Amino acid sequence: MGTSGTSFERRQTRRLRVGDVEVGGGAPVSVQSMTTTKTADVEATLTQIYSLAGAGADIVRVTCNTAEAAGAIAEIMPRSPVPIVADIHFQYSLALAAVEAGVSALRLNPGNIRNEQHIKEVARACMDAKIPIRIGVNAGSLDKDLLDKYGGPVPEALVASAMQEVKYFDDVGFHDVKISVKHSSVPLMVDSYRLLADTTDYPLHLGVTEAGPLPGGLIKSVAGIATLLNEGIGDTIRFSLTTDPVEEAKAGRALLEYLGLRERTTLDFIACPSCGRAEVDVIKVANEANERLQELGFAIQVAVMGCVVNGPGEAREADLGLAAGRGRGHLFIKGEVVRVVPEADMVDALIEEAKLLVEQGTEARLAAGDVNAADIAEETRLELMSIQGDVNATAARRQAVQDVIDAEGSN
Ligand code: SF4
Repeated sequence: MGTSGTSFERRQTRRLRVGDVEVGGGAPVSVQSMTTTKTADVEATLTQIYSLAGAGADIVRVTCNTAEAAGAIAEIMPRSPVPIVADIHFQYSLALAAVEAGVSALRLNPGNIRNEQHIKEVARACMDAKIPIRIGVNAGSLDKDLLDKYGGPVPEALVASAMQEVKYFDDVGFHDVKISVKHSSVPLMVDSYRLLADTTDYPLHLGVTEAGPLPGGLIKSVAGIATLLNEGIGDTIRFSLTTDPVEEAKAGRALLEYLGLRERTTLDFIACPSCGRAEVDVIKVANEANERLQELGFAIQVAVMGCVVNGPGEAREADLGLAAGRGRGHLFIKGEVVRVVPEADMVDALIEEAKLLVEQGTEARLAAGDVNAADIAEETRLELMSIQGDVNATAARRQAVQDVIDAEGSN
């Protein structure tokens, strides 16, 4: 009930630590999110940090935009379940204050802290505190000189901005760095990270900036982040969605699990899209089953399929599945039908079987299966095929096509 391994090679990068989370150098790709509370409101911020950690965030960023926010970080740090990154814009003194507050890492935007001496002072403070800095380049806040030089926020401009900051850090011997070059355009984001990956071996933080509300924001983020992860690029990720940040954390975690980059810790619910063969309202049954299983929080893959003709076969990799047919629900484990129940009871039976499966394991539940279940399912399948036709009868259909062609040829 684990996860399928990834087939692509990860790019070799340096490794650093954000609190107790390792980033880069082959460490598991981590999930980040950001609070939307006023950081100065310690209790509200901690409540949100706990929610984000519970939803799958390994690292959480908070804004450090005022002296009160920096002070609050000192109170948040000892009570936070995950490492905290302080987000700094414009005021380098707040970066120094956040370091003093004991934060796990900083994010600096090179586009809005431009004074070389200030940047170096922050790097020295981080070096003394042994904490990393993310150079967070953002297409929307790129330095005007770079915009003029490159003619706009193109990948070359974003990478030049990051590498200028890296140079300031090199000058003071600071190398505890990860980098992001975020763009709101997916193709430009992808090209920027590819160029950056060819330029440096620092670990990379991936994200499509200002991706927007659901579902577009989710699609853009997945398109950009998954493309790069599939090329082995990326050490930590954030979905920047205009919604409750808990959704960001969940989405980030789910993406990594679906790509086989993290062990499954959440339910993987699959369902057929339904079609004319469906024997039940698949959407209704799938939604009910998904909702009830999500509440249980099992890290298994469960399939809901609209018909027993194709369901058990197509979802044979699922830990547990349900396929409808002729007023009955057919429960299957790894493609083997283990129980047949009346349609009205099938979701209850699925939930019950999920609990037993998690408790007892696959082998035990296969052994406890009803010996007649597979035969009943096969009878139902054959009955349905005799009514609906066999969609899988490819060989017979090919022969029929050939017969038509031959008949035409002989005329
Ligand atoms: S499992 Fe059955 S109902 Fe669902 S899409 Fe496939 S053929 Fe159609």
